[in-house]
Amino acid sequence: MLSAGSLAAAAAAPVSRDDPESSDPGRRPISTAAGSAVVVTANPLASSAALRVLKNGGTAADALVTAQAVLAVVEPQSSGLAGGGFLLYWDSQQQNLEVLDGREVAPQRSRPGDLLTPIGDPLPWREATARLDAIGIPGTVALLWEAHQQFGRLSWARSLQPAIQLASDGFLPSPRLLRSISLAQRIGAGHNQAFTALYLPGGKPPPADQAFRNPLLGRTLEALAQRGGADFYRGTLARQILREMATLQAGDPDFRGWNPTDLSSYAVLRRQPLCSEQLKHQICTMPPPSSGGMGLLQTLALLNQTTDLPGSSAADPQTWRQLARAQAWADADRLYWVHDPIDGGGPAAALLNPTYIQDRAKTMQAKPTKAPTPGLPPGIGRYPYGRPDKGREQGTTQVTIVDKFGNIASYTSSVETVFGSRHLVAGMVMNNQLTDFAFAPRINDQPVANRRLPRRRPMSSMAPTLVFRQGQPVLALGSPGGRSIPHLLSRVLLASLTWNESPQRSVGLPHLSSRGQRLVLEQDPPIPWPLPLDQLQTSDQPARQQRVGSGTALVQKINGGWHGAADPRREGTALALP
Ligand code: GLU
Repeated sequence: MLSAGSLAAAAAAPVSRDDPESSDPGRRPISTAAGSAVVVTANPLASSAALRVLKNGGTAADALVTAQAVLAVVEPQSSGLAGGGFLLYWDSQQQNLEVLDGREVAPQRSRPGDLLTPIGDPLPWREATARLDAIGIPGTVALLWEAHQQFGRLSWARSLQPAIQLASDGFLPSPRLLRSISLAQRIGAGHNQAFTALYLPGGKPPPADQAFRNPLLGRTLEALAQRGGADFYRGTLARQILREMATLQAGDPDFRGWNPTDLSSYAVLRRQPLCSEQLKHQICTMPPPSSGGMGLLQTLALLNQTTDLPGSSAADPQTWRQLARAQAWADADRLYWVHDPIDGGGPAAALLNPTYIQDRAKTMQAKPTKAPTPGLPPGIGRYPYGRPDKGREQGTTQVTIVDKFGNIASYTSSVETVFGSRHLVAGMVMNNQLTDFAFAPRINDQPVANRRLPRRRPMSSMAPTLVFRQGQPVLALGSPGGRSIPHLLSRVLLASLTWNESPQRSVGLPHLSSRGQRLVLEQDPPIPWPLPLDQLQTSDQPARQQRVGSGTALVQKINGGWHGAADPRREGTALALP
């Protein structure tokens, strides 16, 4: 079935922008659940704590606060209080889709070249992830606080209780947590003493059979429970964070530090969802500063132009090949154009303009061997930005919840790479999200769109998504996966909405990810490839097999009931109320 020579399995780099947490060799059965309310998270402790909240009459927002707080304790390699994220929230009573942007921002003293070497070259990506300059002002607590105030029914303090208890009393570390600690050690964690003391006691990951505690994080969560989310930005906790950052700064003379207004001026931003009619559904996703949402919609739009979708199935090589091509062409646009709309808005809508999509599909089909380059969307007559050279520049989690009132939360949350910067402050993993900016602010005498500037949010690939039919939500999903996120989500949506696969098969079928001139075909997928892999080999894109680190959390309405499925590539668990 497989032509061994041409499709050799390749060892992936331990972490990269395409796989910021590396792919996990753990494999579990695909967790599914169905009922009147469903929660899907990347960890069984987070899913069961969130389900209890739903059982006690909480909304999807209350359950989300609990899930994220528990994940900060039990899955700290992927998300936490000192990270950032995006929330799409369907408010069933108001029949309204809200979008909350809790992305990290660059501190006021940032300079465009902070992640360049003294001679002006981009720092190697992995080295940059450990820099204090990589840490963005966190948005997660502000986002949770906003979601609680706007959509919550239960008390904030009560929603944080399960996490406080797990951090203080301890829990058995999961196999994936222990593997992630080893990975952090391999990529470098020695630069932060608090990190190594907690996660690498005696130079090794903690024992698997003993309760693991993080009392400092327990105290931080307790402070938040007592004083509310604002304490993180303007209260006692803010002062503690600033003090600890100043202590770290003493060891890094180049870092210019945070000032109190960096924290006090942080704001969650309300945005308009980016929506488009694709695969016979209205698909709504995250707008800029995410490029993942735009990339997802553009991929599906290009696929629609070039493939007989009604006649396609998972066994049809042509659909897979066109999917790969569409991913690559969508990447060329999103990675060039999309940036924080703070300075006038990116051209996300223009990049989805039907005439533009038709033209672009024609170019894509006419030149199959040409490396994709960004297009010029309507209304833009020239290329205003320098084109980052992908080759030179070189953890996230998804929670999806539907409650019994019909509210839906699709939330992607991140500390960027595995354990973020591997710096701990007040027991919290500090993100390295600012490595999502282009490191070189100018290329060929032109500014780069996604360059680092004070108070800006770095371009993201995270794309929490909701799908509607006749105005009502029928599916919600999202995934980690760094730059591969729109690739992963386009494949899952194709399976659910066009191939009519079950939630379980939709998350478990193999992934394909087009990475520049190389095509990654998932090695050892949870559900085997439904076609011979040599049918996917093309002359323009050499393919290789590699593990893929997706973590899809999906809920879907089928025959009036909600069904959830968790990606078996991580430790995800779906649970439901009857
Ligand atoms: N930092 C990435 C982004 O915002 C997400 C990383 C991941 O998915 O692990 O696009």
